[in-house]
Amino acid sequence: MKIAVLPGDGIGTEIVAEALRVLEALDLSFETETALVGGAAYEAHGHPLPESTLKLAKEADAVLFGAVGDWKYDKLERSLRPEQAILGLRKNLGLFANFRPAICYEQLVDASSLKPELIAGLDILIIRELTGDIYFGQPRGRRTAVDGHFPGAEEAFDTMRYSRPEVERIAHVAFQAARKRSKRVTSVDKANVLETFQFWKDIVTEVGKEYPDVELDHMYVDNAAMQLVKAPKKFDVVVTGNMFGDILSDEAAMLTGSIGMLPSASLNSSNQGLYEPSHGSAPDIAGKGIANPLATILSAAMMLRFSLNQPEAADRIESAVKHVLAQGLRTADIWSAGTTKVGTREMGDAVVAAITKKTITG
Ligand code: NAD
Repeated sequence: MKIAVLPGDGIGTEIVAEALRVLEALDLSFETETALVGGAAYEAHGHPLPESTLKLAKEADAVLFGAVGDWKYDKLERSLRPEQAILGLRKNLGLFANFRPAICYEQLVDASSLKPELIAGLDILIIRELTGDIYFGQPRGRRTAVDGHFPGAEEAFDTMRYSRPEVERIAHVAFQAARKRSKRVTSVDKANVLETFQFWKDIVTEVGKEYPDVELDHMYVDNAAMQLVKAPKKFDVVVTGNMFGDILSDEAAMLTGSIGMLPSASLNSSNQGLYEPSHGSAPDIAGKGIANPLATILSAAMMLRFSLNQPEAADRIESAVKHVLAQGLRTADIWSAGTTKVGTREMGDAVVAAITKKTITG
């Protein structure tokens, strides 16, 4: 097993270091190789995703990614900005399925802005199509309008498009994921207005017939946004396109009140994947030793489960995280009165201790 380790920028290096210590504590045999990505790679090699980093990521079974970005790069031309590295990795590795679980841990119920009864026990999985839709559709650009409301005016445009195979493969991913959970899929679309999403809905319905044991329902994206804050526990697996998934997965993340807790996985058709926390590089707290490493540690657990075929090791990490929360240890972002505030390193130490003391069972 080979893991490409790409810590990136800001808190990326701090949180990935803790995830690596946790992986090492499991006593599995795997090889790791670290490379620069994002702003750090731009500084050293003039590009956020150098050829050498891309080659390493392609050859590895999985990529453990921290975060990239800093406000200081905002003035660079778009192709050189740190965030382009993520898009480049998604494209080159064919990572079309993004898994974003939103889990509310019992001990962190009060971190949510929603009432505890709405959120306690929340466990939903948002599956977002990651390589199509309006984010990648061509043509796009700026031009002089020849029609529309203001002919002759400057305008900008993007193209929303999905092909049948793109929708079919993400639908299969969702139904298969639902089979391992409570066998319910909600497909989110905007079929009432958009041709692309009527097509999406038709194909998801067709694919659903191959999974008669999984219950499928459809919801418009505006309603889904409302239901996520009104009754989030109604959902189990949510599958949707790239743009709606981008927005809904952040909304779902915020339901838990703690972005520092949420892992993510992006997979291709051979289960090679990129694993990263759902948050960014948090330049405001970088270097202070206070970032929450748990999202990255839980991303490493997802990596063991999905790409490295080590589900028991993944269970051990997840149990260890629950254990440290039950001990009352909290980084600043999830701290509340009556709990013990710890830094990044101490949180990593506590997870390692929970794993190595074997006080945790899988
Ligand atoms: P962010 O997620 O980095 O930070 C938002 C807020 O959450 C900040 O107050 C930050 O301190 C806090 N936060 C985030 N992660 C935390 C953690 N693990 N522990 C404690 N607190 C945490 O989002 P932003 O501030 O909008 O963006 C900062 C930079 O990150 C930008 O350059 C942006 O482009 C980039 N970004 C990168 C990714 C990625 O690498 N996948 C994702 C989102 C944003």
